[in-house]
Amino acid sequence: MNFSELGLSKDLINAVERAKYESPYPIQVQAIPSILEKKDLLGLAPTGSGKTAAYILPILQRLLDKEAALERFVPVLVIVPTRELAVQVAEVAENFSRFLPRRIKSMAVFGGVSINPQMMRLHGVEILIATPGRLIDLIGRRAVGISRVHTLVLDEADKVLNMGFREEVEHILELLPGNRQNILFSATMDQEVEHLTQKILREPTRIQV
Ligand code: AMP
Repeated sequence: MNFSELGLSKDLINAVERAKYESPYPIQVQAIPSILEKKDLLGLAPTGSGKTAAYILPILQRLLDKEAALERFVPVLVIVPTRELAVQVAEVAENFSRFLPRRIKSMAVFGGVSINPQMMRLHGVEILIATPGRLIDLIGRRAVGISRVHTLVLDEADKVLNMGFREEVEHILELLPGNRQNILFSATMDQEVEHLTQKILREPTRIQV
């Protein structure tokens, strides 16, 4: 299987090649065509499976077709449990974005560090990768708006819940527009994750690696 068989555009194929990815991992073969069709997705996949590129590549393709984001409204929101994962996802996005015809700005925001430097860098961000608490803080300060998000990713959903972020996630969901694409990845599936998937996802494609 080849990246060019998954429906990615010439620009994305070029970025993938320049990032030195030779062939897609199984999760990417399953997820990329479905995400490109704007379908919701439920992925059961651990870290190391290649799940990040599986959602970042089709998201970059969708963003590339449009003008950069306006003001403080982000079009893509990725919710993650930890600072470490936020930084990793931003790195994967940047690693492809630097080879695209239009540079798509990603940014990781997380708690435990001062908020002001993050607030100053938010302008024009198109992929915001955030831990739940810091995101709510930034929204409260009107540094970022999520009412125009067209793609929501909840990454490591089981860990987000295990870390006690359920209420924060529910609050964030209330601020999002109803009409959007939803992508949820989790390493494990229990009742709590199942409940969240039922709340967020509409007729999702289900994949497992
Ligand atoms: P992840 O599961 O998203 O954390 O990815 C695990 C590692 O696999 C990361 O270091 C990626 O850069 C790498 N990776 C993901 N997909 C591919 C691929 N198709 N070819 C080569 N490396 C990949």
